[in-house]
Amino acid sequence: MSGPYLISTSILSADFSRLGAQIGEAEAAGADWIHVDVMDGHFVPNLTMGPFIVEACRSITSLPLDVHLMIEEPDRLLEAFARAGASLLSVHVEACPHLHRTLQRIRQLGCRVGVVLNPGTPAGMVEPVLHLVDLVLVMSVNPGASGQVFLPEVLPKVTEIRRILDRVNPQAMVEIDGGITAETLPAALNAGVQVFVTAYAVFKNPAGISAGIRSLRDCFPPEG
Ligand code: ZN
Repeated sequence: MSGPYLISTSILSADFSRLGAQIGEAEAAGADWIHVDVMDGHFVPNLTMGPFIVEACRSITSLPLDVHLMIEEPDRLLEAFARAGASLLSVHVEACPHLHRTLQRIRQLGCRVGVVLNPGTPAGMVEPVLHLVDLVLVMSVNPGASGQVFLPEVLPKVTEIRRILDRVNPQAMVEIDGGITAETLPAALNAGVQVFVTAYAVFKNPAGISAGIRSLRDCFPPEG
């Protein structure tokens, strides 16, 4: 699989006092998905948003809600996020001792299924479940905060996962999260990514949200 290529705009860098307007602007500018970074203060040091924010996003936009759970014991909260309106739920392989069961539970709840790897986690950790997922999210920074610098050493892992997916589950997409800008996106695209998470480069773009999305979209091949 190469394209289609999608932009998943993370509200982690949005101005929460104007969340509705900011999501509306991102949607109007061509964001494909809204990415919600959920942090629990345990799996990662930071503490961010829960199901209420997903519910608020669901009332603001009709775009798919791409919910990235950076939490310990995600099984406890899967149903709450599904009820809140998540379209896709991604869980970290590092946080799931019973990964098959967790992924099957997400499917039962009616959401699309994603699995995530930290930068230091090898592709082999998710290989046994690649036939079960709709998406593999490769972290290109250590999760916990927006505005970090992209780690290019994860790109060979992206290529490895894309190659395995093409064999066992070609419809599944590879997503990348962390430090994606107009400068780093092309290398990730060439490595095999279809979905690009971007927070800072859109919501903190000095030229504005629309210009931020446009500058990323300009990196896609014409048919993407
Ligand atoms: Zn994320």
